[in-house]
Amino acid sequence: MRSKFVAGNWKMNGSLAANEALLSALAAAPGIPRGGVAVLAPFPYLGQCADLLRGSTVSWGAQDVSVHESGAYTGEVSGSMLLEFGCRFVVVGHSERRAMHGETSELVARKAVAAVKAGLTPIVCVGETLQERESGRTQSVIGEQLDAVLSTAGMEVVGKSILAYEPVWAIGTGKTATPAQAQEVHSFIRRRVAGKDAGCAEGVLILYGGSVKGSNAGALFSEPDVDGGLVGGASLVAADFLEICKAAFVPSA
Ligand code: PEP
Repeated sequence: MRSKFVAGNWKMNGSLAANEALLSALAAAPGIPRGGVAVLAPFPYLGQCADLLRGSTVSWGAQDVSVHESGAYTGEVSGSMLLEFGCRFVVVGHSERRAMHGETSELVARKAVAAVKAGLTPIVCVGETLQERESGRTQSVIGEQLDAVLSTAGMEVVGKSILAYEPVWAIGTGKTATPAQAQEVHSFIRRRVAGKDAGCAEGVLILYGGSVKGSNAGALFSEPDVDGGLVGGASLVAADFLEICKAAFVPSA
């Protein structure tokens, strides 16, 4: 039986004052199992996450990582640097980075490798655009994104990763995939991983991301292959994020 996991992706949001209120509320919240929730903060705030979350049940991580370990790569941040700030997780392949920074699935796979090598758990995102869905290409697009990770990064890395299905049309739009739509793709992803390694497929967590809210989290998380959520907007307000966490850890709530 897989455990649930909820990660809050702050994107490029936050301030020292706003984060302090949010992180303090999360650190004090009851009922969060250790390792069950993480916040993914902009790089400058990782020290603040460490200060305010250390000793709590909530973990933290970053939103990107370099494929390089050190050197002349201006603006890049390596996995070992993230580790020094207590990060456990890092998002790789978020659709915003694929679309706005031209990140290819091959690069995403290399970032997953770099993260695992540094001792971090990569949260590897895949997802189709609305146009791809409407032209019946959801599975082929996600299959291609996934295959790059399965073959370039390899199954050992996949076994140390979390996967996230984030339909691009649902991110930040208020449109959520229905539980049935999410389950269909999550089951496809799990079967694709099983094609390479059945044991890995059984254990790997597959999160759903795309306008998750307190009102839809319970239904999404009760699908058999939905192991929790990657939450953007709703992770910026403590009460909203905690309502989603509650749906993951108290399923009848
Ligand atoms: C995200 O940022 O990954 C995301 C899913 O955002 P939102 O929950 O706001 O749709």
